[in-house]
Amino acid sequence: MLDMHMHSTSSDGTYAPARLARKAREAGLTHMALTDHDTVDGLAEARAEAKSLGVAFLGGLEISAEYQPGTMHILGYGFREDDPALLERLAEVQRARAERNPRIIRKLNDLGLDITLEEVAAASGGGLLGRPHFAQVLMEKGYVATRQEAFDAYLAKGRPAYVDKVRLSPADSIAAIRGAGGVAVLAHPLQLKQDDDGVAAIVEALVGEGLQGLECYYRNHTNGDTEKFLALARTHGLIATGGSDFHGTNRPGIALGTGEGRLRVPPECWEGVVEKLKESD
Ligand code: AMP
Ligand code: FE
Ligand code: FE
Ligand code: ZN
Repeated sequence: MLDMHMHSTSSDGTYAPARLARKAREAGLTHMALTDHDTVDGLAEARAEAKSLGVAFLGGLEISAEYQPGTMHILGYGFREDDPALLERLAEVQRARAERNPRIIRKLNDLGLDITLEEVAAASGGGLLGRPHFAQVLMEKGYVATRQEAFDAYLAKGRPAYVDKVRLSPADSIAAIRGAGGVAVLAHPLQLKQDDDGVAAIVEALVGEGLQGLECYYRNHTNGDTEKFLALARTHGLIATGGSDFHGTNRPGIALGTGEGRLRVPPECWEGVVEKLKESD
């Protein structure tokens, strides 16, 4: 069983990288890729643990690109994890996050909610701070009943405590990954919030920027979704990848390997990335 999309405490997952590797083994995974948002900090720890457990490991990351109206995330796999240009790009994004977080706190305080950045940092497990950590604290303090309610009431785009963050353009996101020798893949295409023609047009444009793969298998895809995206990938000579987008207890109901239950990521997905990496050697 494979899973090529998951998060640790280095971003907004709830399990530390080594613990995540153990969870992966327990869930029956034979292959795992860690894909934290905007950071490579968890990769060494997760890789060491996966190796000791006999789980094949691929280093990854997930970059949030500039895009409207939905979400565009670009996954990277197999890049040089010490590439100076990639690390500088990620540092820029991390600085933008660090500037944004106090502004979210200020908005929440202005709305009358008692919450501090220290509390949010304590909820993060030591990695990058993101909105899920704000949601966690708002829930723990009883302001909302669920994390989702924290987004719906305060943190989601268009809600009163939302603060946008500076992002890389799609082209720069792909270039950052490929410049470091990695494979660039468009994550969860349904989150683009486009109809079929819209997704097809975006994929075509991204292929022009160097996109190499499409996440055809995802935690909540129907078979129809998966088939549609596999066909689109074939049209453009893209490899197919897949994963659960596991975030630990931050997102209940999602399991490593199986997502919301029917996810099955076939071995060709892993092999496709490995082949692409060989081509670029
Ligand atoms: P950030 O990177 O700080 O903007 O946080 C992005 C993360 O917040 C995503 O990876 C999701 O886990 C979560 N998220 C974003 N929007 C929503 C939403 N409307 N409802 C629930 N979770 C969300
Ligand atoms: Fe996330
Ligand atoms: Fe994502
Ligand atoms: Zn993700």
